[in-house]
Amino acid sequence: MLNKLVVISALLFAGACSTAPAPKTAPSPQRNGQGPSGDTTRAGGDSARAGGNAPAQPRPYNRVITRDAKTRRGMFAVHRVNDKLYFEIPKNELNKDMLLVGRFTRAAAANPRLPGGQFGSYGGDQFAERTLRWDRSGNRIILRSPSFAIVADSSNPVYRAVQAANYPPVIAVLNVETYGPDSAAVVDVTRLYTTSIAEFTAIRGSLDERRSFVENALAFPDNVEVEATQTSTVSPTPSGGGGGGGGQSQGPQPAQSVLAHWSLVRLPEKPMVPRRWDERLGYFSIAQVDFGTTEQRSADRSYISRWRLEKKDPNAALSEPVKPLVYYVDPATPEQWKPWVRKAILDWQPAFEAAGLKNAIIAMDPPANDPDWSPEDVRHTVIRWLPSTIENAQGPHVSDPRTGEILNGSVRMFHNVLNLQRDWYFTQASPLDSRARTLPFPDSLMGRLLEFVVAHEIGHTLGLRHDQIGSSTYPADSVRSASWVHRMGHAPSIMTTRASTTSRSLKTTSRSRTSSPALAPTTSS
Ligand SMILES: [Zn+2]
Repeated sequence: MLNKLVVISALLFAGACSTAPAPKTAPSPQRNGQGPSGDTTRAGGDSARAGGNAPAQPRPYNRVITRDAKTRRGMFAVHRVNDKLYFEIPKNELNKDMLLVGRFTRAAAANPRLPGGQFGSYGGDQFAERTLRWDRSGNRIILRSPSFAIVADSSNPVYRAVQAANYPPVIAVLNVETYGPDSAAVVDVTRLYTTSIAEFTAIRGSLDERRSFVENALAFPDNVEVEATQTSTVSPTPSGGGGGGGGQSQGPQPAQSVLAHWSLVRLPEKPMVPRRWDERLGYFSIAQVDFGTTEQRSADRSYISRWRLEKKDPNAALSEPVKPLVYYVDPATPEQWKPWVRKAILDWQPAFEAAGLKNAIIAMDPPANDPDWSPEDVRHTVIRWLPSTIENAQGPHVSDPRTGEILNGSVRMFHNVLNLQRDWYFTQASPLDSRARTLPFPDSLMGRLLEFVVAHEIGHTLGLRHDQIGSSTYPADSVRSASWVHRMGHAPSIMTTRASTTSRSLKTTSRSRTSSPALAPTTSS
């Protein structure tokens, strides 16, 4: 039994808790192996680019933005005129660094009957993350995607070489259809969201423009949010992942649709002062190569991913932050678990207090009557509850590629992580804890187990990686002491995890005489 446990544990951790931060370059929309060139040849994918070749002929404003327009004003004005979507881009938003984050609002989950570990697509899953910059050239808007991978101080001559080697790819060329009263350029951006433009596409396969359409567009002071349905036909995948029996068929290609959500957010005008990464600190990081140094060589620079938390009162030992971290609890969370999710959020407050910040992280429910509120909006950090059989959870984040400033976190709780936690605790602690001897567990116990996982995933969204060495820092003799474990827990950090040490931990736990109310597994997904 024990051996089995060890094996189970190793497997769990081998695949558990996909903690990689959100990819720093946009994952290819054809990420399942279909190259963009092959997919876009038929679907008019280059129409936005080709559109730039037609002469731009700006028309009177009211001929383009007609009385039928549904308009929202913010960073850009967004106008929906029938089935077209227009952005009205003011001059002062040109040449600014923006971040595009694409997430599914509705998608098709993996077949729950397929073998475990099949990741499907769920609301909040991210399909795109890239920087964008809107530029105007004559009567055209050029949409580019700048990179910050190589840098140099702009006062340094080598900056010219860095710039020359950093020419950003052109995502689209859009004719200016008209100019707003303030000379804002109005462009038709419908194609960005409804045709196979690789940098925007949410779905693999050949996009069918006739079944792809913009559904919603909102504008806020710092961001624009667009939702569109995209439909494609997808080649059947070979086999069902080893047992699903899907098999390969050459029949008609079935359609697949997603409701996709794109957040376009202006990156902070005043970039956060980055903090250098150090391998002794377990942070996710961004990497740059700096050519503007005096070191007679380029320098690799890594900066940690972290939130910008600034004290309201810089002189106070303990101060509230200017802007607290707000973590929303997904309304889809089963009611009995919501208090435990909230508790997991607040569990982090003492850590921030130790750093001099009071109420740095708070739990909130989404506003009940705000139709503009969306969990996919990149301004909102949400602990999502997802109908998946995956026994796992994730904690990705989105950060400013220039500085590592975390702009958004997203905790993703797959429903059957409950099963994982229950099995762990049952096998490890039921001899010691009478509450764990009957199934289902009482909510008070299951909630505590859930709290543990949520708190761990929140840790990832705060920029923390796994504490890979943590388990080894506690002597085995100490961990076998009930009083010691009550005081210290099984591991020094909630981010501690490691397959090998988990195995040790399992043995230790199952043999110990403790009845620790703390969660026995020192590791988590
Ligand atoms: Zn983790």
